[in-house]
Amino acid sequence: MSIIRFDDVWKVYTNNVKAINGMSVQFEKGEFVYIVGPSGAGKSTFIRLMYREEKATKGEIIVNNVKLSGMKEKEIPALRRKIGVIFQDFKLLPSLTVYENVAFALEVIEENPSKIKQRVMEVLDLVKIKSKAKFLPSELSGGEQQRVAIARAVVNRPDVLIADEPTGNLDPDTAWSIMDILENVNGLGTTVIMATHNKEIVNTLKRRVIAIEGGRIVRDEARGNYGYEV
Ligand code: ADP
Ligand code: ADP
Repeated sequence: MSIIRFDDVWKVYTNNVKAINGMSVQFEKGEFVYIVGPSGAGKSTFIRLMYREEKATKGEIIVNNVKLSGMKEKEIPALRRKIGVIFQDFKLLPSLTVYENVAFALEVIEENPSKIKQRVMEVLDLVKIKSKAKFLPSELSGGEQQRVAIARAVVNRPDVLIADEPTGNLDPDTAWSIMDILENVNGLGTTVIMATHNKEIVNTLKRRVIAIEGGRIVRDEARGNYGYEV
């Protein structure tokens, strides 16, 4: 059973831009997938459709056996706990500490406070930022902020981690350290779907590559290359 499935999905924005033009694709549990393609190809739209930040105009998207077309607004938070998301610009809450940014995202159902703390510290340990738990985002480097964002995205143990250009604002060494962490997260069984322009990473850490152009999938390879000049 696929963790995410697109069945002939179309997305036309209200300004009449046709961003996704008939996409059918599926992702399996535990896969690591790069989404590549030129700017404006539809990569971000493709990703935003998965966590219901955008609604498909036509077609069906199924996440964890749930059809997104019939999803009610009040069901969206539950979906977002099954799908962690990270962005190029981190999007941490600036007035909260590292610890608080992660704890805030934790879905807490009658867990005792020491359990909650244990889970948050465990995930801060996973991304190697535990020693800075009391720091504010403004006191961290870009790479450290992205690690906190990853911690926040995976604290609820989602089935899927979606990353939209996660290394876009980072220098090469830092980008590699983020990849190291994403590989660890994937190694724990989480499906990772990552839109990227980083040719070196795609060509070195060989994974499934899906290339999008003009809102269509033009290439889907099990151990693919980046395939564009940069
Ligand atoms: P990529 O991530 O590959 O750069 P996007 O998904 O951001 O591509 O954009 C695909 C197309 O949809 C582009 O033509 C873009 O201008 C348009 N687009 C993206 N977001 C919106 C939006 N919120 N409203 C209208 N058009 C949009
Ligand atoms: P350890 O006891 O193994 O060093 P802790 O779980 O006590 O690990 O915490 C590690 C770091 O996180 C310490 O700096 C600690 O003060 C900080 N920390 C723990 N809980 C919180 C919290 N609720 N808010 C802010 N920082 C915290």
